[in-house]
Amino acid sequence: MQHDQRSIPARQNVRISPSLCFGPDHFVVAAGPCAVEGRDQLEDAARIAASAGAAMLRGGAFKPRTSPQSFQGLGTEGLLLLSEVSRATGLPVVTEVLDPRDVELVGQHAALLQIGSRNMQNFPLLREVGRLGAPVLLKRGAAATIDELLGAADYILEEGNTSIVLCERGIRSFDPGVRFTLDLTAVPRLQARSPLPVIVDPSHGTGVRSLVQPMARAALAAGADGLLIELHPHPEQALSDGPQALTPEDFRTLMAEIERWIPPTARKLARAPESQPYSGQERAEARAT
Ligand code: PEP
Ligand code: MN
Repeated sequence: MQHDQRSIPARQNVRISPSLCFGPDHFVVAAGPCAVEGRDQLEDAARIAASAGAAMLRGGAFKPRTSPQSFQGLGTEGLLLLSEVSRATGLPVVTEVLDPRDVELVGQHAALLQIGSRNMQNFPLLREVGRLGAPVLLKRGAAATIDELLGAADYILEEGNTSIVLCERGIRSFDPGVRFTLDLTAVPRLQARSPLPVIVDPSHGTGVRSLVQPMARAALAAGADGLLIELHPHPEQALSDGPQALTPEDFRTLMAEIERWIPPTARKLARAPESQPYSGQERAEARAT
């Protein structure tokens, strides 16, 4: 499958574990901190995410920061924490891989490997996650067109990996009142051109806490297949992206609202897998058998 085809096959499911998949029948909410900052912070965030009804845990171990002086993430230590907390809460992990040399390592801890917006056109990285064969979350570059996003997905597809979830996360515009401008037209435009699931990140897409809930609501109404949401047990203490992080209370309110809004959309809110989360190791074993 490549995206220059004229006729688009039926909407595709991307399976994360035996009982969790992205696709037309489910609305998957992945939530957690921008960055893994330590055990207590991650455990608290994961507990809040799980109890409010999120299906996946997000959290960056390798952080793409504008300045090299900013907190760069805990790296491998952060990945190990993600794995531990994932096992404890049952939430599969989505986390970013920045460097092609780390793809295999991140694949051992993540159920879904995130390619961040700054790397959307890092072609060696795209090929590497394509070769790994694990599910990939491909975020739109802040200045990327829809064609460019689909072209980036084609690099992963060309390596034989069709398990791709696309993500609209805001594009660069001129108004300093928001960090990025969330382009919700991307949802139906991508779905018209591609069978891949499309989710929305209203956290980076606005950069403003009070705008996250209204834009999450709008994403659901626009037909998105899920959400990627930043939350922090204490946003004022966050080492990155505190101003856009939902408080625990905000997140619970958001999930309660989604539960109310879901029925008219003919989808079900995805639940965390009943079995233990699908790790890279299990995925490798499943492939081998
Ligand atoms: C993230 O989701 O952690 C992130 C860094 O987002 P983006 O790549 O969209 O800026
Ligand atoms: Mn962030």
